[in-house]
Amino acid sequence: MAMLRTENHGAVAVLTMENPPVNGLGHALRTAIVDALHEAQADPAIKAVVITGGGTAFSGGADIREFNSPKAMAEPTLFTVIREIEKSPKPVIAAIHSVCMGGGLELALGCHFRVAAPKAKIALPEVKLGILPGAGGTQRLPRVVPLETALNMIVSGNPVNSEKLAGTPLFDAIIETDLVEGAIAFARQVVTENRGLPRVRDLAIMHEDAEAFLRFSLNTVTAMAKNFPAPAKCVEAITAAVLLPFDEGIARERALFLELLQTPESRALRHAFFAERAASKIPDVPADTPLRPVTTAAVIGAGTMGGGITMNFVNAGIPVHLLEANAEALERGMGTIRRNYENSAKKGRIKAEDVEKRMALIKPTMSYADLGGDDIVVEAAFEDMDVKRAVFGELDKTMKPGAILATNTSTLDVNQIAGFTGRPGDVIGMHFFSPANVMKLLEIVRGAKTSKDVLATVMKLSKTLRKTGVVAGVCDGFIGNRMIEQYSRQAGFMVDEGASPAQVDRAVEKFGFAMGPFRMGDLAGNDVGWYIRKRRYIEKPHMAYSRLADRLCELGRFGQKTGAGWYRYEPGNRKALPDPLVDTLIADYRSELGIKPRKISDEEIVHRLVFSLVNEGAKILEDGIALRASDIDLIYLSGYGFPLWRGGPMLYADMYGLYNVVNRMKEFAANPYGDPGFWQPAPLMAKLLAEGKSFTG
Ligand code: NAD
Repeated sequence: MAMLRTENHGAVAVLTMENPPVNGLGHALRTAIVDALHEAQADPAIKAVVITGGGTAFSGGADIREFNSPKAMAEPTLFTVIREIEKSPKPVIAAIHSVCMGGGLELALGCHFRVAAPKAKIALPEVKLGILPGAGGTQRLPRVVPLETALNMIVSGNPVNSEKLAGTPLFDAIIETDLVEGAIAFARQVVTENRGLPRVRDLAIMHEDAEAFLRFSLNTVTAMAKNFPAPAKCVEAITAAVLLPFDEGIARERALFLELLQTPESRALRHAFFAERAASKIPDVPADTPLRPVTTAAVIGAGTMGGGITMNFVNAGIPVHLLEANAEALERGMGTIRRNYENSAKKGRIKAEDVEKRMALIKPTMSYADLGGDDIVVEAAFEDMDVKRAVFGELDKTMKPGAILATNTSTLDVNQIAGFTGRPGDVIGMHFFSPANVMKLLEIVRGAKTSKDVLATVMKLSKTLRKTGVVAGVCDGFIGNRMIEQYSRQAGFMVDEGASPAQVDRAVEKFGFAMGPFRMGDLAGNDVGWYIRKRRYIEKPHMAYSRLADRLCELGRFGQKTGAGWYRYEPGNRKALPDPLVDTLIADYRSELGIKPRKISDEEIVHRLVFSLVNEGAKILEDGIALRASDIDLIYLSGYGFPLWRGGPMLYADMYGLYNVVNRMKEFAANPYGDPGFWQPAPLMAKLLAEGKSFTG
């Protein structure tokens, strides 16, 4: 496909980039730009060149499809393209109508002039991938916008609207009418007025005390970005722009760029970025699968989850029928939703008048007849198979043909639930996380009979609801909770053996988890795990658990909601305080089991917890419950507080080295306590090792 269209308008050649979706500056496009530029230079009839973008972007920057391929670095590189533009004897004008980001902005900064439409999105977002702009962005941007603005843009990566940057040397004109026509007229004027060939590199950086400002910024950014090296390196690169001659500054930027590219943090951020994109691709569901319309919704159950799920639909402008079995619960649920919106309005997150507008989209009801015409229903009633049977039986009777019937169950078999209807193809799991209106993760559970268009529609819906949708197969706990169960078991074993709950929490929080397992238990309610374990003792009697958590629950210590759990809590305060009673409980339990407590290092704690996730994750991949390792990582990053800069458990294992992970697991297996089979590596790990492969490729 031709990547670049050239049209001559009198003495002005207009080069239009055409590499959908965002005119990524891939190798073919870069080559085409240089060729077209040379052609225009050789044509005596052409006096000026305009570069613009077709479609919805000027250019979104590097072509991500070429990431990690030799093409990304092949000549002509973006560096070369910019050099060719800069040294062109005929003026080159960038005409920016919309998205102009990363390499796209660097290209524009290499042009002699730039004109833009209002509201064009201008950004250097590289920092979000743990790197910095590597084709002169950090050296040129501070020369055309105020130093503070350049620093903010480069360190945050966030876009700024073009009109906000009007009046700076970044833009020679903001054109309100047709941009390309305006750019051609501007080019003619440049030629007529003989305005020469200004280069951004020749401009001086204007600031009263740039060095002091940058020193201060470096300290602030280093403190704020804690676990991410890129923002501070961005400041270093900008400092080079201030202190060094241009070409030396460029060399410094290059060195910092290459340094960052090698960091595990950048690898993690790039992995997370690609994981998000990969998650929406389901191998046997083509991208053009027809979708079912979703313009109205219903939610069953106005409890903790039902309320949050209702808010998700409403926030996306989709009206909801909210059905309850019990009038009091319905009123309570509506009250909670209203209070949530009122709090958001108080905090300025939504406008005051939006509270009523959003509430007006919810129709509370106790009659299934009201839901019949809705496009989708999400069931969030009690976690009990008999309740699910009753609800899905009603839905089967009342919902119109083609309606999607979703369940928010966290532990029950979605296939069995589908079997309560005469239309199992329409049934799917939508596993939201609590609080459902806040948490980004949505596990989309594909039943054995879920039809492809239902799956594709719910994937698309997850985007409408601003969720990170990840497909899971049917099994106990799906992906996230099936893994976390092993992690919790391991946490329990470590306390049996000698660690304190506070040490386990501290170690794993230092590793970067948002919250350790014991603080998490106290927050979510220790009774939830107790309920599951009681079932497990019957279903899987061979599976070992520390019984300490049961002892705790027997004392009514469910966590924050009862004022005490693994820690104690002062009324109205969520701060976890040490409790000697728990220490005694643990000491008694150890002596009952005859365990002589030993000192466990923080490193062992972290690796036993993380590798228990990894091993179960590998089994989940083998079982086909997850489509790819990056889906597992996405679940842990978006729903379980795994540190973003480590990229998720599976990438962490790859970076640690699968060989080393397996060896460490062998050492843990020599441990005399706990489930002896626990550390048997999943066969997939042995297979990958033998083939010299890794989880994430
Ligand atoms: P909840 O007890 O807070 O709310 C359940 C609501 O459903 C109650 O208001 C109840 O009156 C109503 N209800 C019960 N039977 C009903 C029926 N037959 N018809 C209509 N309404 C009925 O429970 P929850 O925590 O919101 O959990 C709901 C579902 O979501 C469960 O399947 C649970 O496993 C799942 N889930 C919960 C969480 C969580 O963290 N709480 C997370 C993910 C999924």
